[in-house]
Amino acid sequence: MEVIRTSDRARQRVWSIRSKGSTVGLIPTMGALHDGHLSLVQLCADRCDTSVASIFVNPTQFGPHEDLDKYPRTFDQDCERLEAAGVDFVFAPTAGEMYPNGFSTYVEPPNVACMLEGKCRPGHFRGVTTVVMKLFQILPATHAAFGRKDYQQFKVIEAMTRDLNVGVEIIGGATIREPDGLAMSSRNRYLSSADREQALALSAALQTVQRLVADGEREIKVLETAMRRRLDASVDQIDYAVIVDAETLTSINGLDHPAVALIAAHVGTTRLIDNRELSASPA
Ligand code: AMP
Repeated sequence: MEVIRTSDRARQRVWSIRSKGSTVGLIPTMGALHDGHLSLVQLCADRCDTSVASIFVNPTQFGPHEDLDKYPRTFDQDCERLEAAGVDFVFAPTAGEMYPNGFSTYVEPPNVACMLEGKCRPGHFRGVTTVVMKLFQILPATHAAFGRKDYQQFKVIEAMTRDLNVGVEIIGGATIREPDGLAMSSRNRYLSSADREQALALSAALQTVQRLVADGEREIKVLETAMRRRLDASVDQIDYAVIVDAETLTSINGLDHPAVALIAAHVGTTRLIDNRELSASPA
């Protein structure tokens, strides 16, 4: 499996695949791969003739006090896993290749980026939309897969792709979890074993909400209170724990539209996110 470092070579490779009439699925990642990433490779393999992955820890989506420097980097292992999964090539540019001297053009994120993560992590989505748009230019794939684990990011990318007429079909992958429910994340490596126990509160709180909804509860305030109560018992800080409209991520009064429960919370020094889409079937 070839590892490509330059944009020109990467673009050439994708066009040469596409010139034969083949479809190409792109899986953008920041490395430190786990089964969640590999499920996206599988999604692309199921739908496309060829898949390509990118590994790039994108500095513009990290805030000044975030974990850019200590973000886990496991490049050789990542390449082994991608090769075993049948990826055609990996694009792994340097920061200088992506952001050369004088770089100053950014993609303004859509409205759905304003709330929640957008509030907690100013500038984060601007970094995401910019790097994803750049990857779409460098790797002109027919399809691109993103995880619904990063639910708001998924909605931001869907909106950007629609708004800017990007001719890439966006595929959403289900959240892959550890057997005990913890959503897989590259950042789970930061968790001590005590932290890891506490981190289970996120998926547990989401399960609590799902159970209450299944039992007929429709009051958003009641559901959010139950979610917070479960979190309060374990996590060190809650950034948000809300139930919002599944499309716009704005507040709702009841569960008459598709909704999503979204959590961001800190366990020790690690910030975790998780979510659950709530079915709006009548009680
Ligand atoms: P990252 O390397 O964290 O930037 O993630 C790369 C892609 O993998 C993004 O589209 C994520 O949403 C997706 N992803 C991360 N964790 C999971 C997971 N547990 N299940 C499914 N997709 C995931």
